[in-house]
Amino acid sequence: MKKILFTASECTPFVKTGGLADVIGSLPQALIEAKLAEVRVILPLYDEIPAQWKEKMEKVATFDVKVGWRDQQATLYTLKHEGIVFYFLANTLYFTRKGIYGYYDDGERFVFFSQAIIDAFPYLDYTPDVLHAHDWQTGLAVAFAKVAPPTPNLRTVFTIHNIKYQGMMPHQAFDDLFQLPLEHFAGFEWNGMINCMKAGLFHADKITTVSPSYAEEIKDPYYSEGLHTILHQRANDLSGVINGINTNDYHPSKDPHIAVNYSHSRVKKKDNKEVLQKEFGLPVNRDVPMYVAISRLVEQKGFHLLERILDEFLQEDVQAIVLGTGEHEFEQSFSHLAHRHSDKMVTLLKFDEGLARQLYASADFFIMPSMFEPCGLSQLIALQYKTVPIVRETGGLKDTVKPFNEITGEGNGFSFSNYNAHDLLSVMKYSLNVYHNSDAWPRLLKNVNKSQFGWKESAKAYADIYDSFVDAGNNEE
Ligand code: ADP
Repeated sequence: MKKILFTASECTPFVKTGGLADVIGSLPQALIEAKLAEVRVILPLYDEIPAQWKEKMEKVATFDVKVGWRDQQATLYTLKHEGIVFYFLANTLYFTRKGIYGYYDDGERFVFFSQAIIDAFPYLDYTPDVLHAHDWQTGLAVAFAKVAPPTPNLRTVFTIHNIKYQGMMPHQAFDDLFQLPLEHFAGFEWNGMINCMKAGLFHADKITTVSPSYAEEIKDPYYSEGLHTILHQRANDLSGVINGINTNDYHPSKDPHIAVNYSHSRVKKKDNKEVLQKEFGLPVNRDVPMYVAISRLVEQKGFHLLERILDEFLQEDVQAIVLGTGEHEFEQSFSHLAHRHSDKMVTLLKFDEGLARQLYASADFFIMPSMFEPCGLSQLIALQYKTVPIVRETGGLKDTVKPFNEITGEGNGFSFSNYNAHDLLSVMKYSLNVYHNSDAWPRLLKNVNKSQFGWKESAKAYADIYDSFVDAGNNEE
């Protein structure tokens, strides 16, 4: 079995700000359970990681890592969780802080982390065949592995979870933070800056992203965030593999966070709605359609469209809940909307896993009108909780949500194509019509109930990529 070392900046159940954590927390397990690969995972040891995990970690080694001309100390810990070996790299200067991102020296923090991964290889007590790195924070690990391989046959995969975030630093960082000859500069530079994502894209043996549609979209300047040229250059090595979710963990029949467990029962789902309405002071009405959004409150997620149309949509007999944190502008506007429509809408400005699950369980509709969406896990979680997604047709949303068609009876949600507020409004009004249509609604729910987004097929697709290397390596021998 191939030995794979995953690396990323977040992973459930240890630390999470978004979907990346869910993927790193569930794909290794899927690969291992299907006996497709032996996967271990290496992560930064943030202060943020709860003590319950830290207490169980064992120290493996302490070693120096060169960050430019300086030596920084890394301490490697390990922990076995649900059969998976996790490694954590600790350094007080870089990771003993509040939160996990958003610091002026994030670039340097992940230079350290990426170099420390390479330097940790002698202490891992297994020899990975493939280093599989995810997003810009670990793009440099792929680059460093290529420039100075820690083991002779190591191959690399780099997965783009969101091309918007690239990890850029002034070009002086090349001299200041790396220990590399100048001939390598071009592989790290993009538009006059050091760009960690570009470095990953340039150096990786294979590149994947998290849906087939996004793999196509990012070759277009509208979606590429400036990186289309390199993606065209690497097009033969780029593919899209749709994300899955851990359907054991996200399951309404056994989720301990929700008030009433259910499988398909709409009656029990409405029990959850009632609990939520009572908790947040909304009029208790089991039959009123409830629309929710659970998300980072950022432009990407289409909140400009939603804030435009909610005043009008809330004239209907509906309820809406927004759960999220993010940009000040959206926190303000959604708080004001909830204030103006206090009998119909609630805005909750926090990150709360348990509450998110109670919302998925209680809602009838999940709103996700993203401007772009590499894959999106929230719509998959919504479907898993039998909640109908309303999405814009982009990236992974397009690949996972098919618009309901009353004539053919096909489709598991609602969607619209143009990034336009009125198109969102009309599709939301249409969803309301379907909700009240006693013939169409059950047909839609039947399709929702059948939607499944586990890891089975996608884990196999990743294993095929890993296998292609091993085969190539064997042929060379
Ligand atoms: P992204 O990774 O771009 O933020 P995804 O849809 O891929 O978007 O994943 C978002 C994940 O974060 C989902 O598991 C979602 O339920 C969770 N999430 C987002 N906002 C919150 C919040 N305020 N509280 C709890 N969970 C949240």
